[in-house]
Amino acid sequence: MKLNKRIDPGLIGFDIDGVVADTAEAFIRLARSDYGVDNIFAEDITEFVVEDCLPLDAELVGEIFKRLLVAPIESGLKPMAGAVEVLWDLSREAPLTFVTARPLKEPIELWLENVLGNSVFKKARLIAMGDHNGKAEHIRDLGLKYFVDDRAETCMALAKENITPIVFHQPWNRGRHNLKSVDGWGSIRELCL
Ligand SMILES: [Mg+2]
Repeated sequence: MKLNKRIDPGLIGFDIDGVVADTAEAFIRLARSDYGVDNIFAEDITEFVVEDCLPLDAELVGEIFKRLLVAPIESGLKPMAGAVEVLWDLSREAPLTFVTARPLKEPIELWLENVLGNSVFKKARLIAMGDHNGKAEHIRDLGLKYFVDDRAETCMALAKENITPIVFHQPWNRGRHNLKSVDGWGSIRELCL
């Protein structure tokens, strides 16, 4: 799908993990530093369900993701390259909107405030849904027409509901869709600004 016109920054929303936050980097770093796992790399994460593609048991994967869920700041979760700069520039045009499948709002809210700074954060909207399914209804209720997400299944579900998905390129969505995609925050800037 081609998008020819500039996207109104007030009509686009963002997923957090894998889009704003470099969750894969944090996952791999924690696995290495705290659990002695030194044979996993971001490009090997070719499945959204990490234990399906990495030589790790589901219990360990669950433990690391729980830390990233409960304590993203303490886990050293970092923003994706360019994310903060582009979000700052977008926030000058319209308030930012984030919709995450995370079930716990407060930790990621604090993380987002930490990353964006209070003045940009306090004008932003953040929805923590607690489910990977049903994002379309939330996004529509928020009045958005475009949404950036790294999960191919979510993007395909959005397309069915007349929301234009933009797939944020990651190893786990490669070859799983033929939707509009971006390879990073520089491309999001080009689409919106
Ligand atoms: Mg995500």
